[in-house]
Amino acid sequence: MIFCPLCGNMLIMQSSLHGYFFGCNTCPYKHELGEHRVTARRSMHHDERADEIYGGDSAKEMMDMTEADCPKCHHNRASYVQQQTRSADEPSTVFYCCEKCNHKWNDGS
Ligand SMILES: [Zn+2]
Ligand SMILES: [Zn+2]
Repeated sequence: MIFCPLCGNMLIMQSSLHGYFFGCNTCPYKHELGEHRVTARRSMHHDERADEIYGGDSAKEMMDMTEADCPKCHHNRASYVQQQTRSADEPSTVFYCCEKCNHKWNDGS
């Protein structure tokens, strides 16, 4: 059950052209369900940079192999991708993905 944050009355499920929403009977407050559904779908992805880079299969194919020590299984080869930061003062970050166990890490912070 959802209550109106403005007046405290119970919100009633209503429908409009844009979809369903919870509306208050005593004040103009509306709680749109459509917008929240979109937000939920987008936030399913983590906001971490590594996930962004390793997200698609095409990104993985583009990555080069290099010698790197996997912190997890100590395999010595990993695919890597370099990401340039927006600020010129900061060094670019290298993201690694272990060839053997798929562990992902980076050499930055
Ligand atoms: Zn209200
Ligand atoms: Zn590994």
